[in-house]
Amino acid sequence: PPPTSASTKHNDVFNAFIPTQAALDPNSAYQAAVAQRKGAKAMHPLDNMTVAIKDNICTQRYRTTCCSPLLKNFSSPFDATVVTLLQDAGAWIAGKTNMDEFGMGPFGPTINPAPFFPLGTQDQRLSGTVANGPHLSAGGSSGGSAASVAAALCSAALGTDTGGSVRLPASYCGVIGFKPTYGRISRWGVVAYANSLDTVGILASDIPTVKRVYDTLNRHDPLDSTNMPEAIRQPLAHSAHVRTEAAIRRSKWSASNLQGCRVGIPAEYHVNELSDTVVKAWQRAASHLEALGAIIVPISCPHTRYALSAYYILAPAEASSNLARYDGIRYGAPADPATPSHTLYGATRTQGFGPEVHRRILLGTYVLTSTAYDDYFVQAQKVRRLVQQDFDRAFYLPNLLHMSGQVPSSPASSDDHPQVDVILTPTAISHAPSLDKVRASTPSSNATAPMADYVNDVMTVPASLAGIPAVSVPFSRVPSAFQDELGGFLDLPVGMQLLAQYGDDETLLRVAEALV
Ligand code: GLN
Repeated sequence: PPPTSASTKHNDVFNAFIPTQAALDPNSAYQAAVAQRKGAKAMHPLDNMTVAIKDNICTQRYRTTCCSPLLKNFSSPFDATVVTLLQDAGAWIAGKTNMDEFGMGPFGPTINPAPFFPLGTQDQRLSGTVANGPHLSAGGSSGGSAASVAAALCSAALGTDTGGSVRLPASYCGVIGFKPTYGRISRWGVVAYANSLDTVGILASDIPTVKRVYDTLNRHDPLDSTNMPEAIRQPLAHSAHVRTEAAIRRSKWSASNLQGCRVGIPAEYHVNELSDTVVKAWQRAASHLEALGAIIVPISCPHTRYALSAYYILAPAEASSNLARYDGIRYGAPADPATPSHTLYGATRTQGFGPEVHRRILLGTYVLTSTAYDDYFVQAQKVRRLVQQDFDRAFYLPNLLHMSGQVPSSPASSDDHPQVDVILTPTAISHAPSLDKVRASTPSSNATAPMADYVNDVMTVPASLAGIPAVSVPFSRVPSAFQDELGGFLDLPVGMQLLAQYGDDETLLRVAEALV
């Protein structure tokens, strides 16, 4: 379908695309996509689709800045594999989307379109009054990608998800955000934040669109050494087709039938920070799945409570190493060229990185020092393995990574540990916060506030640590204290998160369809 009836001025309001790095009139982007197809003999799976690309994914057509002053002039000499695959499949790259610098939250200045686009309709309430708000956060770090979909500026968008950066903005903006299994989608040409966690994710308004993009990108890439090898892809594809009783049962699940699907509700996700309205939406989501034939199973993932701390040790550690290349010589706009060479690195990095990136580099460098390494980095790696084993114990399918000997096998299951097909949790602890609140908590003068914001990722980081697939689905809208232009209280979207075993992406999307 044509992606939109929205206009360029909507982007001025939401700041979803970086204006200098996009073909901002979506209708002409759509026409360009159609024109691109003309003359081509065969139809391609993504013909007529316009796709927005997060600005940490390399494109030749547009600069790739990671929304950092350090890379403000960086043009990649090549396209990322995902961009090439999209274009080869007929998609039109609409432009680059706004993000938190290098993918690190708290969230950037993208304005959440959800208050202006009621769920499930193209009926926009955009008018002159939109400039007056309410201005809510689109979430991060792929906030621009989520907003570009929510404002109907494109048919789909790519984001990256290291600890929740696709799922959280999807939840806040009321769109679908899918983080596939770690290694499924190539990261060649994606600027690294934390290599052992980084994934490319897909945002769209419906599951069939997510699937079309996923089917295009889900293939082995020899250019990415962390990409899932054929030796694992093939058994995974094969296990989807074996005619066991369970496989037959699973293959029948659809948007209207989840007969026998075992949905786990992990007690440990019921954290204090979870807002009451989100808890109620979680209960409604479980009842909805039950009504379609699913069996709700209380489960336990006991190491969940340590996941957030482990993530905020491992991700900065890897980031501190990855960001070392931005020295003003190999990469990055150098500080004043008159700066003497022995101080150029420091000057470039001091001026070029924002406060959150500085904080991550300092934290990450510290946990990798010889005095802190054993107490922090090694402990966090152990926690990561325990979190993964919690999931392995919960899921009915085995973790296929065991077969290649890359992961120690999980403890055997028992009656105390009922096994499930998918796990259901909220995606975020609340609906989108106001942008003013986010801005107020970011100045470096208040050094503890950004740390408090890290709790927003509490629901999403366990799946990242385990490398399992996860999707946020806009299940419902909950009442907020924010007022619309007529003075009424706004209902805002909240996402429900579904998790599945490593490599079980197809089942995940099938069940997700029943939640939309
Ligand atoms: N907010 C998290 C962080 O800052 C998640 C980032 C991400 O997934 N890219 O690390």
